[in-house]
Amino acid sequence: MTAALPGHIEAASPHVMPTYGRLPIALSHGQGCRVWDVNGKSYLDALGGIAVNTLGHNHPRLVPALQEQIGKLIHCSNYYHVPLQETLADKLVALSGLENVFFCSTGLEANEAALKLARKFGHDKGIERPEIVVYEKAFHGRSIATLSATGNPKIQAGFGPLVEGFIRVPLNDIEALKAATAGNPNVVAVFFEAIQGEGGINSMSDEYLRQARALCDERDWLLMIDEVQCGMGRTGKWFAHQWSGIKPDVMPLAKGLGSGVPVGAVVAGPKAAHIFGPGNHGTTFGGNPLAMRAGVETIRIMEEDGLLANATLAGDHLRDALARELANVTGLKEIRGRGLMLGVELTTPCGELVQRAADNGLLISVTADTVIRLVPSLIMTTAEADEVVAILCPLIKQLLKEKA
Ligand SMILES: *Cc1c(COP(=O)(O)O)cnc(C)c1O
Repeated sequence: MTAALPGHIEAASPHVMPTYGRLPIALSHGQGCRVWDVNGKSYLDALGGIAVNTLGHNHPRLVPALQEQIGKLIHCSNYYHVPLQETLADKLVALSGLENVFFCSTGLEANEAALKLARKFGHDKGIERPEIVVYEKAFHGRSIATLSATGNPKIQAGFGPLVEGFIRVPLNDIEALKAATAGNPNVVAVFFEAIQGEGGINSMSDEYLRQARALCDERDWLLMIDEVQCGMGRTGKWFAHQWSGIKPDVMPLAKGLGSGVPVGAVVAGPKAAHIFGPGNHGTTFGGNPLAMRAGVETIRIMEEDGLLANATLAGDHLRDALARELANVTGLKEIRGRGLMLGVELTTPCGELVQRAADNGLLISVTADTVIRLVPSLIMTTAEADEVVAILCPLIKQLLKEKA
Protein backbone atom coordinates (compact mmCIF):
# COMPACT_ATOMS: atom_id res chain seq x y z
CA MET A 1 0.00 0.00 0.00
CA THR A 2 1.34 3.42 -0.91
CA ALA A 3 -0.19 6.18 1.13
CA ALA A 4 0.46 9.81 0.36
CA LEU A 5 2.09 11.54 3.28
CA PRO A 6 2.28 15.26 3.79
CA GLY A 7 5.57 17.08 3.86
CA HIS A 8 8.89 15.77 2.63
CA ILE A 9 7.71 12.17 2.70
CA GLU A 10 6.03 11.87 -0.70
CA ALA A 11 4.87 8.29 -0.31
CA ALA A 12 5.29 5.46 2.16
CA SER A 13 7.74 2.83 0.96
CA PRO A 14 6.12 -0.39 -0.24
CA HIS A 15 9.05 -2.19 1.32
CA VAL A 16 7.55 -1.98 4.81
CA MET A 17 5.12 -4.85 5.32
CA PRO A 18 1.64 -3.38 5.69
CA THR A 19 0.82 -4.94 9.08
CA TYR A 20 -0.60 -1.70 10.49
CA GLY A 21 -3.30 0.60 9.21
CA ARG A 22 -1.26 3.77 9.69
CA LEU A 23 -2.40 7.35 9.93
CA PRO A 24 -0.84 9.60 7.28
CA ILE A 25 1.41 11.18 9.90
CA ALA A 26 5.16 10.83 10.39
CA LEU A 27 6.38 11.96 13.80
CA SER A 28 9.70 13.68 14.07
CA HIS A 29 10.37 14.54 17.71
CA GLY A 30 8.78 15.06 21.07
CA GLN A 31 9.05 16.95 24.34
CA GLY A 32 7.14 15.89 27.43
CA CYS A 33 3.56 14.99 26.44
CA ARG A 34 3.87 16.72 23.08
CA VAL A 35 5.12 15.45 19.71
CA TRP A 36 5.71 17.16 16.38
CA ASP A 37 5.34 15.68 12.91
CA VAL A 38 7.71 16.20 10.00
CA ASN A 39 5.66 19.23 8.92
CA GLY A 40 5.99 20.91 12.30
CA LYS A 41 2.38 20.27 13.40
CA SER A 42 2.20 19.57 17.13
CA TYR A 43 0.08 17.01 18.93
CA LEU A 44 -0.77 16.39 22.55
CA ASP A 45 0.12 12.75 23.10
CA ALA A 46 -2.58 10.86 25.03
CA LEU A 47 -1.41 7.50 23.67
CA GLY A 48 2.20 7.52 24.88
CA GLY A 49 3.31 5.03 22.23
CA ILE A 50 0.56 2.69 23.57
CA ALA A 51 1.36 2.97 27.27
CA VAL A 52 5.10 2.81 26.60
CA ASN A 53 6.53 6.32 27.02
CA THR A 54 6.25 6.39 30.81
CA LEU A 55 8.41 9.51 31.14
CA GLY A 56 7.12 11.26 28.04
CA HIS A 57 9.48 12.30 25.27
CA ASN A 58 13.04 13.62 25.58
CA HIS A 59 13.07 13.36 29.36
CA PRO A 60 15.89 15.58 30.69
CA ARG A 61 17.23 12.90 33.05
CA LEU A 62 16.50 9.73 31.09
CA VAL A 63 18.09 10.82 27.82
CA PRO A 64 21.57 11.72 29.19
CA ALA A 65 21.63 8.47 31.19
CA LEU A 66 20.86 6.45 28.07
CA GLN A 67 23.42 8.41 26.06
CA GLU A 68 26.04 7.66 28.67
CA GLN A 69 25.10 3.97 28.65
CA ILE A 70 25.31 3.74 24.87
CA GLY A 71 28.86 5.07 25.07
CA LYS A 72 29.78 2.45 27.65
CA LEU A 73 28.09 -0.79 26.61
CA ILE A 74 24.90 -1.40 24.63
CA HIS A 75 24.91 -5.16 24.56
CA CYS A 76 27.08 -8.02 25.68
CA SER A 77 25.51 -11.41 26.25
CA ASN A 78 23.95 -13.40 29.02
CA TYR A 79 27.10 -15.51 29.00
CA TYR A 80 28.36 -12.89 31.46
CA HIS A 81 27.02 -11.26 34.59
CA VAL A 82 25.22 -8.02 33.78
CA PRO A 83 25.30 -5.87 36.93
CA LEU A 84 22.50 -3.58 35.71
CA GLN A 85 20.31 -6.68 35.28
CA GLU A 86 20.86 -7.46 38.93
CA THR A 87 20.06 -3.87 39.90
CA LEU A 88 16.78 -3.87 37.96
CA ALA A 89 15.83 -7.34 39.22
CA ASP A 90 16.45 -6.24 42.84
CA LYS A 91 14.23 -3.23 42.22
CA LEU A 92 11.36 -5.17 40.59
CA VAL A 93 11.47 -7.76 43.37
CA ALA A 94 11.33 -5.01 45.99
CA LEU A 95 8.41 -3.25 44.28
CA SER A 96 6.39 -6.43 43.70
CA GLY A 97 7.23 -8.47 46.79
CA LEU A 98 8.01 -11.40 44.48
CA GLU A 99 11.26 -13.37 44.24
CA ASN A 100 13.15 -13.24 40.94
CA VAL A 101 13.07 -11.99 37.35
CA PHE A 102 13.73 -13.20 33.79
CA PHE A 103 14.45 -10.42 31.29
CA CYS A 104 13.40 -10.29 27.65
CA SER A 105 12.54 -7.48 25.23
CA THR A 106 8.79 -7.44 24.56
CA GLY A 107 5.41 -8.20 26.07
CA LEU A 108 4.74 -11.30 24.04
CA GLU A 109 8.11 -12.70 25.04
CA ALA A 110 7.32 -12.08 28.70
CA ASN A 111 4.00 -13.88 28.25
CA GLU A 112 5.63 -16.70 26.30
CA ALA A 113 7.99 -17.21 29.24
CA ALA A 114 5.00 -17.23 31.61
CA LEU A 115 3.28 -19.91 29.50
CA LYS A 116 6.47 -22.00 29.49
CA LEU A 117 6.76 -21.59 33.27
CA ALA A 118 3.18 -22.83 33.68
CA ARG A 119 3.70 -25.84 31.44
CA LYS A 120 6.93 -26.85 33.16
CA PHE A 121 5.29 -26.31 36.55
CA GLY A 122 2.79 -28.95 35.40
CA HIS A 123 5.35 -31.32 33.93
CA ASP A 124 7.40 -31.14 37.13
CA LYS A 125 4.25 -32.35 38.94
CA GLY A 126 3.74 -35.20 36.46
CA ILE A 127 1.02 -33.45 34.40
CA GLU A 128 1.86 -34.31 30.80
CA ARG A 129 -0.79 -32.21 29.06
CA PRO A 130 -1.00 -29.05 31.15
CA GLU A 131 -3.88 -26.63 30.55
CA ILE A 132 -4.00 -22.90 31.28
CA VAL A 133 -7.13 -20.86 31.94
CA VAL A 134 -7.38 -17.70 29.80
CA TYR A 135 -10.09 -15.06 29.35
CA GLU A 136 -12.53 -13.67 26.86
CA LYS A 137 -11.31 -10.46 25.15
CA ALA A 138 -7.78 -11.02 26.50
CA PHE A 139 -4.72 -9.81 24.60
CA HIS A 140 -1.37 -11.42 25.29
CA GLY A 141 0.59 -10.87 22.07
CA ARG A 142 0.98 -12.15 18.54
CA SER A 143 3.34 -15.13 18.66
CA ILE A 144 1.62 -18.42 17.93
CA ALA A 145 1.33 -19.32 21.63
CA THR A 146 0.33 -15.85 22.84
CA LEU A 147 -2.21 -15.31 20.06
CA SER A 148 -3.69 -18.67 21.02
CA ALA A 149 -4.06 -17.34 24.59
CA THR A 150 -5.55 -14.11 23.22
CA GLY A 151 -9.36 -13.98 23.25
CA ASN A 152 -9.90 -12.23 19.91
CA PRO A 153 -10.86 -14.27 16.83
CA LYS A 154 -9.65 -11.46 14.52
CA ILE A 155 -6.10 -11.84 15.86
CA GLN A 156 -6.22 -15.62 15.51
CA ALA A 157 -7.80 -15.79 12.03
CA GLY A 158 -5.43 -17.22 9.45
CA PHE A 159 -2.87 -18.58 11.89
CA GLY A 160 -4.27 -21.96 12.89
CA PRO A 161 -3.70 -24.52 14.09
CA LEU A 162 -3.62 -22.70 17.40
CA VAL A 163 -1.59 -23.90 20.34
CA GLU A 164 -3.71 -26.24 22.45
CA GLY A 165 -4.01 -26.41 26.19
CA PHE A 166 -6.09 -23.28 26.86
CA ILE A 167 -9.47 -23.13 28.60
CA ARG A 168 -11.37 -19.86 28.06
CA VAL A 169 -13.66 -18.26 30.62
CA PRO A 170 -15.51 -14.93 31.04
CA LEU A 171 -14.16 -12.08 33.19
CA ASN A 172 -15.07 -11.60 36.84
CA ASP A 173 -17.08 -14.81 37.21
CA ILE A 174 -15.52 -17.13 39.77
CA GLU A 175 -18.30 -19.69 39.37
CA ALA A 176 -17.59 -19.89 35.64
CA LEU A 177 -13.91 -20.48 36.41
CA LYS A 178 -14.79 -23.25 38.84
CA ALA A 179 -17.22 -24.84 36.40
CA ALA A 180 -14.78 -24.71 33.46
CA THR A 181 -12.08 -26.45 35.46
CA ALA A 182 -14.24 -28.85 37.51
CA GLY A 183 -12.70 -32.30 37.79
CA ASN A 184 -9.86 -31.39 35.38
CA PRO A 185 -6.53 -32.54 36.86
CA ASN A 186 -4.53 -30.95 34.02
CA VAL A 187 -5.10 -27.31 34.96
CA VAL A 188 -1.84 -25.64 36.00
CA ALA A 189 -2.44 -21.90 35.83
CA VAL A 190 -4.90 -19.00 35.57
CA PHE A 191 -3.68 -16.19 33.30
CA PHE A 192 -5.25 -12.74 32.87
CA GLU A 193 -4.60 -9.02 32.57
CA ALA A 194 -5.52 -7.13 35.76
CA ILE A 195 -7.01 -4.54 33.41
CA GLN A 196 -7.45 -5.65 29.80
CA GLY A 197 -5.90 -3.09 27.47
CA GLU A 198 -6.53 -4.05 23.83
CA GLY A 199 -9.78 -5.74 24.87
CA GLY A 200 -11.26 -2.34 25.79
CA ILE A 201 -10.04 -1.30 29.28
CA ASN A 202 -11.92 -4.04 31.15
CA SER A 203 -10.94 -4.42 34.80
CA MET A 204 -10.84 -7.57 36.82
CA SER A 205 -12.53 -6.61 40.08
CA ASP A 206 -10.43 -6.55 43.25
CA GLU A 207 -12.80 -9.16 44.62
CA TYR A 208 -12.26 -11.45 41.64
CA LEU A 209 -8.49 -11.16 42.04
CA ARG A 210 -8.81 -12.28 45.66
CA GLN A 211 -11.14 -15.14 44.69
CA ALA A 212 -8.80 -16.27 41.90
CA ARG A 213 -5.84 -16.09 44.30
CA ALA A 214 -7.67 -18.26 46.84
CA LEU A 215 -8.70 -20.80 44.20
CA CYS A 216 -5.14 -21.01 42.82
CA ASP A 217 -3.84 -21.63 46.35
CA GLU A 218 -6.47 -24.27 47.00
CA ARG A 219 -5.81 -26.12 43.72
CA ASP A 220 -2.04 -25.55 43.52
CA TRP A 221 -2.27 -23.54 40.29
CA LEU A 222 -0.10 -20.60 39.30
CA LEU A 223 -1.82 -17.20 39.27
CA MET A 224 -0.25 -15.34 36.34
CA ILE A 225 -1.18 -11.68 35.88
CA ASP A 226 -0.22 -9.98 32.61
CA GLU A 227 0.75 -6.45 33.67
CA VAL A 228 2.36 -5.58 30.34
CA GLN A 229 -0.01 -2.64 29.79
CA CYS A 230 -1.57 -1.91 33.20
CA GLY A 231 1.65 -2.25 35.22
CA MET A 232 4.55 0.11 35.89
CA GLY A 233 2.64 2.76 37.79
CA ARG A 234 -0.09 3.43 35.26
CA THR A 235 -2.97 2.86 37.68
CA GLY A 236 -1.32 4.70 40.58
CA LYS A 237 0.29 1.62 42.10
CA TRP A 238 3.37 -0.06 40.70
CA PHE A 239 1.25 -2.98 39.53
CA ALA A 240 -2.52 -2.93 39.01
CA HIS A 241 -3.13 -6.11 40.98
CA GLN A 242 -1.73 -4.39 44.08
CA TRP A 243 -5.05 -2.55 44.51
CA SER A 244 -6.54 -5.91 45.54
CA GLY A 245 -3.88 -6.74 48.12
CA ILE A 246 -2.96 -10.08 46.52
CA LYS A 247 0.28 -11.18 44.85
CA PRO A 248 0.51 -13.24 41.67
CA ASP A 249 2.95 -16.12 41.18
CA VAL A 250 4.01 -14.86 37.76
CA MET A 251 3.85 -11.30 36.41
CA PRO A 252 4.87 -10.43 32.84
CA LEU A 253 5.89 -6.80 32.26
CA ALA A 254 7.02 -4.80 29.23
CA LYS A 255 5.58 -1.64 27.59
CA GLY A 256 6.23 1.13 30.18
CA LEU A 257 9.19 -0.58 31.84
CA GLY A 258 11.85 1.05 29.64
CA SER A 259 10.10 4.33 28.69
CA GLY A 260 10.45 3.39 25.02
CA VAL A 261 13.55 1.22 25.05
CA PRO A 262 12.35 -2.37 24.49
CA VAL A 263 12.40 -4.14 27.86
CA GLY A 264 10.33 -7.11 28.97
CA ALA A 265 10.42 -9.02 32.22
CA VAL A 266 8.73 -11.89 33.97
CA VAL A 267 8.67 -11.49 37.72
CA ALA A 268 8.12 -14.72 39.65
CA GLY A 269 7.03 -15.40 43.20
CA PRO A 270 8.26 -18.31 45.34
CA LYS A 271 6.00 -20.86 43.61
CA ALA A 272 7.43 -20.06 40.17
CA ALA A 273 10.92 -18.76 40.93
CA HIS A 274 12.71 -22.10 40.70
CA ILE A 275 10.95 -23.76 37.76
CA PHE A 276 13.51 -22.68 35.14
CA GLY A 277 17.12 -23.76 35.44
CA PRO A 278 20.08 -23.34 33.08
CA GLY A 279 19.08 -24.17 29.51
CA ASN A 280 15.31 -23.99 30.03
CA HIS A 281 14.80 -20.54 28.55
CA GLY A 282 16.72 -17.64 27.06
CA THR A 283 16.85 -14.76 24.62
CA THR A 284 19.79 -12.95 23.04
CA PHE A 285 18.75 -9.35 23.67
CA GLY A 286 17.03 -9.89 27.01
CA GLY A 287 18.62 -8.02 29.88
CA ASN A 288 21.21 -6.15 27.84
CA PRO A 289 22.89 -3.18 29.52
CA LEU A 290 21.06 -0.49 27.50
CA ALA A 291 17.64 -2.04 28.20
CA MET A 292 18.46 -2.52 31.87
CA ARG A 293 19.69 1.05 32.23
CA ALA A 294 16.40 2.24 30.72
CA GLY A 295 14.46 0.21 33.29
CA VAL A 296 16.60 1.31 36.23
CA GLU A 297 16.43 5.01 35.29
CA THR A 298 12.70 4.85 34.52
CA ILE A 299 11.94 3.51 37.98
CA ARG A 300 14.40 5.92 39.64
CA ILE A 301 12.78 8.93 37.97
CA MET A 302 9.27 7.65 38.70
CA GLU A 303 10.21 7.47 42.38
CA GLU A 304 12.03 10.82 42.48
CA ASP A 305 9.18 12.63 40.76
CA GLY A 306 6.27 10.89 42.49
CA LEU A 307 4.77 9.65 39.23
CA LEU A 308 2.52 7.04 40.85
CA ALA A 309 0.78 9.82 42.73
CA ASN A 310 0.66 11.84 39.53
CA ALA A 311 -0.96 8.95 37.65
CA THR A 312 -3.73 8.99 40.24
CA LEU A 313 -3.98 12.78 40.33
CA ALA A 314 -3.95 13.38 36.58
CA GLY A 315 -5.95 10.22 35.90
CA ASP A 316 -8.74 11.11 38.33
CA HIS A 317 -8.76 14.66 37.00
CA LEU A 318 -9.02 13.42 33.41
CA ARG A 319 -11.74 10.95 34.27
CA ASP A 320 -13.79 13.49 36.22
CA ALA A 321 -13.45 16.10 33.47
CA LEU A 322 -14.53 13.60 30.82
CA ALA A 323 -17.49 12.56 32.94
CA ARG A 324 -18.52 16.20 33.43
CA GLU A 325 -18.14 17.10 29.79
CA LEU A 326 -19.95 14.00 28.53
CA ALA A 327 -22.70 13.93 31.16
CA ASN A 328 -26.10 13.26 29.56
CA VAL A 329 -24.56 12.63 26.14
CA THR A 330 -26.61 9.97 24.38
CA GLY A 331 -24.25 7.37 22.96
CA LEU A 332 -21.81 7.41 25.84
CA LYS A 333 -21.81 3.95 27.38
CA GLU A 334 -19.19 4.13 30.12
CA ILE A 335 -16.00 5.82 31.26
CA ARG A 336 -13.79 3.32 33.05
CA GLY A 337 -10.28 2.37 34.09
CA ARG A 338 -7.88 3.42 36.81
CA GLY A 339 -5.29 6.18 36.99
CA LEU A 340 -3.91 6.97 33.54
CA MET A 341 -5.42 3.90 31.91
CA LEU A 342 -8.84 5.10 30.84
CA GLY A 343 -11.42 3.94 28.36
CA VAL A 344 -14.42 5.88 27.06
CA GLU A 345 -16.89 3.43 25.56
CA LEU A 346 -19.48 4.63 23.08
CA THR A 347 -22.51 2.71 21.89
CA THR A 348 -21.21 2.91 18.32
CA PRO A 349 -17.91 2.13 16.55
CA CYS A 350 -15.71 5.22 16.66
CA GLY A 351 -12.48 4.44 14.82
CA GLU A 352 -12.87 7.68 12.82
CA LEU A 353 -12.05 9.61 15.98
CA VAL A 354 -8.39 8.67 15.77
CA GLN A 355 -7.85 10.67 12.57
CA ARG A 356 -10.18 13.47 13.63
CA ALA A 357 -8.36 13.85 16.95
CA ALA A 358 -5.01 13.91 15.16
CA ASP A 359 -6.33 16.60 12.79
CA ASN A 360 -7.14 18.57 15.93
CA GLY A 361 -3.74 17.99 17.51
CA LEU A 362 -4.44 15.03 19.80
CA LEU A 363 -3.13 11.45 19.65
CA ILE A 364 -5.46 8.73 20.99
CA SER A 365 -6.36 5.19 20.04
CA VAL A 366 -9.62 3.33 19.64
CA THR A 367 -9.64 -0.31 20.64
CA ALA A 368 -12.30 -3.02 20.57
CA ASP A 369 -14.12 -0.85 17.96
CA THR A 370 -16.03 1.29 20.43
CA VAL A 371 -13.55 2.23 23.16
CA ILE A 372 -11.43 5.39 23.12
CA ARG A 373 -8.23 4.48 24.96
CA LEU A 374 -6.23 7.10 26.86
CA VAL A 375 -2.87 5.84 28.16
CA PRO A 376 -0.62 8.92 28.18
CA SER A 377 2.77 9.33 29.81
CA LEU A 378 2.70 9.36 33.60
CA ILE A 379 4.10 12.91 33.59
CA MET A 380 0.85 14.33 32.15
CA THR A 381 -0.29 17.43 34.04
CA THR A 382 -3.88 18.25 34.97
CA ALA A 383 -3.69 21.19 32.54
CA GLU A 384 -2.75 18.80 29.76
CA ALA A 385 -5.57 16.48 30.86
CA ASP A 386 -7.96 19.45 30.50
CA GLU A 387 -6.59 20.01 27.01
CA VAL A 388 -7.29 16.36 26.11
CA VAL A 389 -10.89 16.83 27.23
CA ALA A 390 -11.27 20.14 25.39
CA ILE A 391 -10.18 18.58 22.10
CA LEU A 392 -11.75 15.14 22.47
CA CYS A 393 -15.22 15.78 23.86
CA PRO A 394 -16.53 18.00 21.02
CA LEU A 395 -15.31 15.37 18.54
CA ILE A 396 -17.14 12.62 20.44
CA LYS A 397 -20.34 14.67 20.52
CA GLN A 398 -20.05 15.49 16.81
CA LEU A 399 -19.50 11.83 15.88
CA LEU A 400 -22.43 10.67 17.99
CA LYS A 401 -24.64 13.30 16.36
CA GLU A 402 -23.65 12.06 12.90
CA LYS A 403 -24.37 8.46 13.86
CA ALA A 404 -27.63 9.14 15.69
C1 LIG B 1 0.91 -4.99 24.30
C2 LIG B 1 0.57 -6.16 25.13
C3 LIG B 1 1.20 -7.40 24.97
C4 LIG B 1 2.19 -7.65 23.85
O1 LIG B 1 3.33 -6.88 23.98
P1 LIG B 1 4.34 -6.75 22.74
O2 LIG B 1 5.48 -5.97 23.31
O3 LIG B 1 3.59 -6.03 21.66
O4 LIG B 1 4.72 -8.12 22.34
C5 LIG B 1 0.88 -8.42 25.82
N1 LIG B 1 0.00 -8.26 26.81
C6 LIG B 1 -0.63 -7.09 27.01
C7 LIG B 1 -1.58 -6.95 28.14
C8 LIG B 1 -0.37 -6.01 26.18
O5 LIG B 1 -1.02 -4.85 26.35
